[in-house]
Amino acid sequence: MASPLRVGITGGIGSGKTTLCRLFAVLGIPIYDADYWAKWLIEHDVRVRQEVVGLLGSEAYQPDGTYNRLYVARRVFADAALLAALNAIVHPAVERHSFAWHEQQAKTGCPYTLKEAALLVESGSYRFLDALIVVTAPEAIRLRRVMERDGLSEEAVRARLQRQAPEADKVALADFVIVNDGQHALIPQVWRIHRALVCRSLHQQMPPRK
Ligand code: ATP
Repeated sequence: MASPLRVGITGGIGSGKTTLCRLFAVLGIPIYDADYWAKWLIEHDVRVRQEVVGLLGSEAYQPDGTYNRLYVARRVFADAALLAALNAIVHPAVERHSFAWHEQQAKTGCPYTLKEAALLVESGSYRFLDALIVVTAPEAIRLRRVMERDGLSEEAVRARLQRQAPEADKVALADFVIVNDGQHALIPQVWRIHRALVCRSLHQQMPPRK
């Protein structure tokens, strides 16, 4: 059986990546939540744990073995080089894990899998994908959504926003763009992309002409 296409979905904070993934999931598409798995690997992958302790010390984990998120955030968000070093541990681990997950999904016969990640472009892992979907929404709407969803101040959301590449840089690399500004209907946009990806997947699986 041919391998499904590897498709990524990204966008700025609050653009609606998770919301859109739920629609693709309804169509039967397997979703890989890279942020969830990054946290899981930091906590459970022996090699990642060793590397994180090597970088940040044993305080990176609580005495009960759980990840000391607050301590790590305090250290890395005050030091760009340390953040880059942590990312250089976590991003390749997620890449390896998502590849293995993707190979597992091939057994289901799905036409493509979808990897959701906030930093697909920033981490460079978009280069390993067959197609990239970028979700866009005006910054003011994204700010409001995240403030409401997470109960955060505008400053706190802006601080997160500043750690991400500008939306235009992501759009420039996109094969498909979904506009999630509350004005454009989502289902027709998802359906159009789904059909295009199913076609591309079938085309890839066709035997060469004699
Ligand atoms: P993050 O970058 O923080 O992971 P995200 O890009 O995954 O966020 P979502 O969590 O999908 O974004 O959406 C952010 C918030 O905005 C959620 O509370 C979601 O329910 C809401 N939201 C997303 N899209 C819409 C929409 N079209 N209409 C109304 N609310 C929306």
